[in-house]
Amino acid sequence: MLFGRKNRKPISIPTKKVKEWKYSTCNYCSTGCSIEIGLDENKKLVTSRGHAGADVNRGKLCIKGLLEHDLFNSPGRGTEPLIREKHYHDFEPTSWDHALDTTAAQIKNIQQQYGRDAFAVISTGQLLTEEFYTLGKLVRGCIGTNNYDGNTTLCMASAVSGYKRSFGSDGPPGCYDDFEHTHCLMAFGSNLPEQHPIIYWRLKEALEKRKFPLIVVDPRVTMLAQFADIHLPITPGTDCVLINAMMHVIINEGLQDQDYINAHTQGFDEVKALVQDYDPKSAQHICGIDEDKIRTVARLYAKAPAAMSIWTMGINQSTHGSDGVANINNLNLITGNIGKPGGTSLSITGQCNAMGTREWSSCSGLPGYRYLENEADRQEIADFWGIDAEFFPKKRGLSETDIFPAIETGEIKGLWIVATNPMTSMPNTGRIRKALEKLDFLVVQDVYQDVEMNQYAHVYFPASVWAEKQGCHTNTERRVNLIDNALAPFANSKPDFWIFNQLAKRFDHGNIIHFPDQPEQAFEEMKQLSKGEDRTLDISGMSYEKIIQARGIQWPYREGSTSLKGDARLYTDGKFQTPSGKANLLPIKFYNNNEQPCQQYPFWLNSGRVVEHFHTRTRTGKIGNCNKFSPTPYMEMNPDAANELGVTHQSYVRLTSRRSDAVVMVQLTHRVPRNMVFIPFHFHDCVNRLTLGLLDPHSRQPAFKQCSVRIEAIDQKEAAQLNVERRAF
Ligand code: SF4
Repeated sequence: MLFGRKNRKPISIPTKKVKEWKYSTCNYCSTGCSIEIGLDENKKLVTSRGHAGADVNRGKLCIKGLLEHDLFNSPGRGTEPLIREKHYHDFEPTSWDHALDTTAAQIKNIQQQYGRDAFAVISTGQLLTEEFYTLGKLVRGCIGTNNYDGNTTLCMASAVSGYKRSFGSDGPPGCYDDFEHTHCLMAFGSNLPEQHPIIYWRLKEALEKRKFPLIVVDPRVTMLAQFADIHLPITPGTDCVLINAMMHVIINEGLQDQDYINAHTQGFDEVKALVQDYDPKSAQHICGIDEDKIRTVARLYAKAPAAMSIWTMGINQSTHGSDGVANINNLNLITGNIGKPGGTSLSITGQCNAMGTREWSSCSGLPGYRYLENEADRQEIADFWGIDAEFFPKKRGLSETDIFPAIETGEIKGLWIVATNPMTSMPNTGRIRKALEKLDFLVVQDVYQDVEMNQYAHVYFPASVWAEKQGCHTNTERRVNLIDNALAPFANSKPDFWIFNQLAKRFDHGNIIHFPDQPEQAFEEMKQLSKGEDRTLDISGMSYEKIIQARGIQWPYREGSTSLKGDARLYTDGKFQTPSGKANLLPIKFYNNNEQPCQQYPFWLNSGRVVEHFHTRTRTGKIGNCNKFSPTPYMEMNPDAANELGVTHQSYVRLTSRRSDAVVMVQLTHRVPRNMVFIPFHFHDCVNRLTLGLLDPHSRQPAFKQCSVRIEAIDQKEAAQLNVERRAF
């Protein structure tokens, strides 16, 4: 037999006979890749490819985007509305009218009996922006509950809160192009290669053209940390200490940009005074980074002609999340690194349209970054929608993480869940199950009828997915891009836009407020509401046609703009959205309130994403070519620690926390230190059975990444069986 290169058959890529390519945008992460979806001559979707002319991804896609067309016919899709007349009855198929009538009647009934806020709504970062705007109209303008939030509280709330506290407004000020201009990049708790692979590719490309130092702050040796020039394996939850110590060095060595500080910020004296308590000598004992490294990194960052910071959940998912963001902003403000090419504070958002919900859903306020707390904002939206401003609450209601405790206490009796899966995604999921059992009425709107939440639902609305709908997304760098209908809704599922419109008709204000039939008409309303020289979030110059032509346009993009390019950066003139126009420098004091390893629970528990899965696997768990890479809940464990406990590679172990237990398969690796384990957060009945999720006081975001567990080896047959049963639902 002959072996060797010459005799190997080349890999053959199956030819897919594509008749037509349809433009779209990826519906998974916030990178915002432009996609083309290939249809064959029978109008069947057969493949996806990256759009070569798109600024964001330049023809590339990650594994999720490449297989996205497989979503349309994936198993478990909802085909008909379902209804359960009594708690323990089976679901029965029903008509849309009956499902919608029942839901509207139940909402009104609960509100009449217990008050308007007794019915709550939790949505997502996955809908299209026009759908978010319409849902906001329905919830704020018609249903009138104040207990309305998005699942973005689990991922981006701290970034929003930190931006608002520092700059007076939400909105990431930088863009991917900043990689091309920066002289130093510091990544806090952000594992780009797995979380945002195409942003990582943009960074790598910039590094190949021009080398600059990459500093990664992460307790785990992530893929990004492996490529870093300097890796700072920080003690979980202590980022504020590290940043304060860096600012201590910068200010005491006179490396700050005093001209920028004087012209564009307020509060410098307070920050200067506070950081005197954080000299690297003492800070090193809290944050775990030695004093010399702190000094080196501080000098490198401050002396760079332009330096930038990026971050993801390592900062946001913490009891100090909002403070961490404000402190990253502090670092960039005192070094003059806001609003200039390569100098920025860029939060890397999680979900594909987390930005869209922040901008237009009215979850935490009113559309277009307007505040419920501001009388003029309430009046403006009430006038635009044609209702009395007194209908609006005067301050924000409960966040997602406060809604579940309010169900426990009986304050909330009914809930509408739109495209989110808190039974897997919330911390301490055992508590979530108990809360759901107490509801008088639960309606679940989702693409999949086998989503875990349906175990408790009384009504299920089957929603259409991705390119069965039309509308926009906004990505991490404020780029608005379009998803165009590529095919009709699956079975009797309906676009979320349609569902919101139909439900609105069943409320009094639904006949006063205009609910247009087409997403593009909703987009036109949003354009009108965004218009204004003093508004950063201005999309008034955009149209669907222009967006497709440009493959996405960044906001602000004002009326009359002709170039097809929006503003790449915010705050380039040093004017911020605060009353004084100056950015706030905020003294951030560290307090340690996290659960920490102890004798009984000696391991830190860390969680995060893997590249082939997205969030709770409702979609990627159904795509064979994604799922096959990570089909089983697993845990990274340090081999030395495993050795001490007699745990071997690929054996099952039980983890126990103060909340509950979980069974996972062990993967031995030096990626994690001896006193830490890491578990992907995607799996049902897994890591979030264990997490505590203390809340950030500003953003109400849970600290998923700072809790403690103990580990024990268990009977392998029993564990394997338990895992199969848990995954079977
Ligand atoms: Fe989609 Fe994100 Fe992958 Fe791009 S990087 S293809 S947006 S999942």
